[in-house]
Amino acid sequence: MSGFGRFAPSPSGDLHLGNLRTALLAWLFARSTGRGFRLRIEDLDRVKPGAAERQSADLAALGLDWEPPVVWQSQRLPLYEAAIAELTAAGRTYECFCTRKEIQQAVTAPHGPMGAYPGTCRELTDAERAAQRAAGRPAALRLRADITELVITDELLGSYRGAVDDLVLRRGDGSPAYNLAVVVDDADQGIDQVVRGDDLLASTPRQVYLATLLGLPIPQYAHVPLVLNTAGQRLAKRDGAVTLRDRIALGETPDQILNALATSLGYPTATTIAQLLTQFRPEQLPQEPWTLDPNGLLQPSSGP
Ligand code: GLU
Repeated sequence: MSGFGRFAPSPSGDLHLGNLRTALLAWLFARSTGRGFRLRIEDLDRVKPGAAERQSADLAALGLDWEPPVVWQSQRLPLYEAAIAELTAAGRTYECFCTRKEIQQAVTAPHGPMGAYPGTCRELTDAERAAQRAAGRPAALRLRADITELVITDELLGSYRGAVDDLVLRRGDGSPAYNLAVVVDDADQGIDQVVRGDDLLASTPRQVYLATLLGLPIPQYAHVPLVLNTAGQRLAKRDGAVTLRDRIALGETPDQILNALATSLGYPTATTIAQLLTQFRPEQLPQEPWTLDPNGLLQPSSGP
């Protein structure tokens, strides 16, 4: 196998049809290019007990498979700390004592890109830092970035220019931040193809920059459109009847659900996962989000 693709869910609850569609796409991209496929449980926060097991079972029910081992981020803390130590040794980190509220207020100021950290703690003196620590303020650790934006290449979207700021590497509660963990894990697991929802596109320039600083290879990226509800909003659990288990309870089978996902990806006819794989053409994927009425049936009835 030349490399790996992956699906990396946060185990905060059951996967909905949008997540399942993204997982299917990630699997198709990987397998159709001769890659292996990995499953990684991103359990550094928002963990619901049993959710990861249910997510894996749902992916398997649709016919997806992956190479072991399944890794859990919570068991890999030394890897993330090693990367943080490397950046710190290179003078690339600083402690940040800002509260979320302070940051929000600062970025509503007229300067700086939306959502970017304004750099408040970047130039604190040793004495100022000591005073903050003495006041008992928990410190997050941030990257000292020396660029403010970066252009990345996406297989589906082409060039994308996005903000790079002094992103958090370790949160105030001591846990590694998502952007750091994802970069370290993708490299460590031999992931050279990242297929995920386009809600994460804006994080990608930050991740590419971080990988470059750590001397890690940059994976190929493909960000895929999300699934929307009939009001045009991103599909969510509250839309009702959106998980595999909800659909099965309505009388649909995993094969029918797979077929509905396939149809949404532009496949014309009822298809098995093996057929999907042989027919998969990324350049023919719909560019638009899939709008779904969760209260309707996924499959037109073909009964007598
Ligand atoms: N764990 C993230 C999520 O569930 C996905 C991370 C990624 O694919 O890079 O939204």
